[in-house]
Amino acid sequence: MDEVKKCGLCNNSLDHEYHPMETWNVKGYLCSKCYSKKLSEHYPGTHERVNKSN
Ligand SMILES: [Zn+2]
Repeated sequence: MDEVKKCGLCNNSLDHEYHPMETWNVKGYLCSKCYSKKLSEHYPGTHERVNKSN
């Protein structure tokens, strides 16, 4: 029986579970998108954005 895990923020199903930091106040797990988004929010300026387009 596979339990489908979902992102605590966007509710998408997860290929890989990212553990949110306690200070983010997120229940459960995060998808890669939300995880990197949270990271960049939490560490402004120190985290390079992945999807840079110009
Ligand atoms: Zn997500």
